[in-house]
Amino acid sequence: MRGTAVVVGGGIGGLAAALGLRRVGWEVTVLERSEAPDDAGAAISLAANGLRALDELGVGAAVRAASRGQYRGGTRTPDGRWLARMDGAALERAVGSPIVGITRAELHRLLRAALPAGALLIGVRALTVDQDGPGPVRVGCADRTLDADLVVAADGVGSRLRGLLLPGHPGPVATGAAVLRAITERPLPLDGEFELTWGGGAEFGHIVLPDGRAEWHAVLPLPPGTRFADPLAELRSRFGGWHAPIPALLAATGPSAVLHHDLRELRTPLPTFAVGRVALLGDAAHAMTPNLGQGACQALEDAVTLAAAVADAPDLPSALSRYDAVRRPRAQAVARAARQAGRLGHGLSNPLAVAARNAAMRLAPAGPQLRAILRHHAWEPPRPGGSAPRPA
Ligand SMILES: Cc1cc2nc3c(=O)[nH]c(=O)nc-3n(C[C@H](O)[C@H](O)[C@H](O)COP(=O)(O)OP(=O)(O)OC[C@H]3O[C@@H](n4cnc5c(N)ncnc54)[C@H](O)[C@@H]3O)c2cc1C
Repeated sequence: MRGTAVVVGGGIGGLAAALGLRRVGWEVTVLERSEAPDDAGAAISLAANGLRALDELGVGAAVRAASRGQYRGGTRTPDGRWLARMDGAALERAVGSPIVGITRAELHRLLRAALPAGALLIGVRALTVDQDGPGPVRVGCADRTLDADLVVAADGVGSRLRGLLLPGHPGPVATGAAVLRAITERPLPLDGEFELTWGGGAEFGHIVLPDGRAEWHAVLPLPPGTRFADPLAELRSRFGGWHAPIPALLAATGPSAVLHHDLRELRTPLPTFAVGRVALLGDAAHAMTPNLGQGACQALEDAVTLAAAVADAPDLPSALSRYDAVRRPRAQAVARAARQAGRLGHGLSNPLAVAARNAAMRLAPAGPQLRAILRHHAWEPPRPGGSAPRPA
């Protein structure tokens, strides 16, 4: 089946959806309200499932070339002791790729560059969606109306379209934590590429980028809306006594580079990822806590699955019902696992609970730990003919 689509939101999910639909012959327009994403100064890690999806979208090779494999690392305590090691080579053997790190700016640039000129309309905010009656779906903006056979709501965690389509859903909630993050100004000599450190109620982590700079993040329990006059000074006071290289990462960061976001998630799962002729995709459908580094990877899986469904199905209702049936259980299971990982990680602050968790992690054999990760990273795209994606 072929047709026209309007994608609302030009983030990772929306751009990927547009690439996927174009590859199966659809004519696509993406509406994006902002010039640049508000987290363009950060980086992102992509697991094998996200990279596999990017391969299907035709940009996997370019993204891999602009990324760095995260081979050595793991989870530590603030005094530097290891709780678990992460072996990127073992992941690569099992699912074809270690986790890779890339700047968000570069990932956006590559996704945007793969679209034809004119397909992405910047500075256009979708306000309404109307699908009453037999005609096309109408997306209303301040200065224009766009008609399409299919609309993709990829407008992020605060999705306006989700609110219009599913008015009974409570929407996103604040998790009670904030993340502060930045890319260092310069390369640093680091022993491992990927580290996560859990102290009571707080987390610090980093990944390394191709040019040797690192992206670090700190998760703190903070009421939404809290902002620091001098975020670096605040972080030095909280994390300055933690193990190397944490103080060095903070020291290598420019004060204006620090981004501060309150974390939100869709704690109440959506009852459907498709309403009429509108598909919900990415954070609009399943915004999750970042603890497994899977939000964007799941958005990329959505994009590939949606494209395969519309290419295969005889009509749009069966395509969207297939998209919902394939994607909702998987994305919502990953979201639950991410929430659980956060509760067991930076979410634990009671010293006894922290000690019990740490002891359990030190004793846990590597095999089951790797298998737990692989459950999320292993993914096969749907094949023409309707076969569902299956865990590898
Ligand atoms: C701290 C943090 C770290 C993370 N780390 C990882 C990671 O390592 N790996 C990973 O896979 N995921 C990670 N994630 C999750 C990942 O960032 C998101 O899941 C992903 O970016 C979602 O993409 P999206 O396109 O669905 O939404 P968004 O990126 O939010 O994009 C939505 C877009 O829609 C636009 N928009 C909104 N409303 C309208 C409108 N009405 N009209 C037009 N445009 C509109 C917005 O401007 C925005 O550009 C992390 C998230 C956080 C918060």
